Amino acid sequence: MEFTLLGTGASDGWPNAWCGCASCADQRTRTPRTPTCAAVDGRLLLDAGPEMPRQALRAGLDLAAVEVVVITHAHDDHCHPSFLMHRSWVTDRPLTVVGTAPVIEACRPWLAPAQTVVDFVQVTAGDEVEVAGYRLKAIPANHDAHGEAVLWVVTDGSAALLYATDTGPWPTAARAALEGWRFDLVALEETFGHTPRKVSQHHNLETFAAALADLRTWGNTDERTRHIAIHLGHDNPPLPELTAALAAIGAEVHDDLTTLTVTRNP
Ligand SMILES: [Zn+2]
Ligand SMILES: [Zn+2]
Ligand SMILES: [Zn+2]
Repeated sequence: MEFTLLGTGASDGWPNAWCGCASCADQRTRTPRTPTCAAVDGRLLLDAGPEMPRQALRAGLDLAAVEVVVITHAHDDHCHPSFLMHRSWVTDRPLTVVGTAPVIEACRPWLAPAQTVVDFVQVTAGDEVEVAGYRLKAIPANHDAHGEAVLWVVTDGSAALLYATDTGPWPTAARAALEGWRFDLVALEETFGHTPRKVSQHHNLETFAAALADLRTWGNTDERTRHIAIHLGHDNPPLPELTAALAAIGAEVHDDLTTLTVTRNP
């Protein structure tokens, strides 16, 4: 699978455009990080935040090729449903939108009541969905988003990835939901860097490392798995320091618009 990071930033991006802190000052010298979302093979979107369409253009993706949009939760940085209206003006190709009840509720008003182009698939944690040649599984998140938030397993039958934003330390039910899965790539949120977590429902570097260690203990990952930090905000240290801190725990950081090839290494 080709996994394209359309955005790697927290909800306010990094830098926060309103902020004059040292972390943002450093990040201003680099490519801005936009709210976290990703594309798989240019056909499946993971989240659709406010900057997703322009980031897809910058990545050279043709959104007309997208068959399914899979959304983690109803927060605006992941679910900005005006894309549905903009799409409806130019195409009547079928599209499947998969998400929890608050996501579907947020998306529905953006389509004409009698439309038949967009198929909504409502899920709850533990559900599996087969769509567009992919098998998806919703994993419970530790994140309150006006209702249920989930994380997503995506496999095309050859390789498997876990897209895990937004969440704090795994909720109790996550381990059972993840049982039997082995991931070739894990993209896990790391919002707060070395800063103590301001809210329990995101990771800092310490809880990020612990969450990755949990996956290893549970048999979901091994030494061949790539670990990518996403949902990065300005509480993180400047990029060189962050890169080193992540490398020390076997994780990577990449710029927006980076494409990673996810393959199964035997
Ligand atoms: Zn977020
Ligand atoms: Zn800042
Ligand atoms: Zn959120």
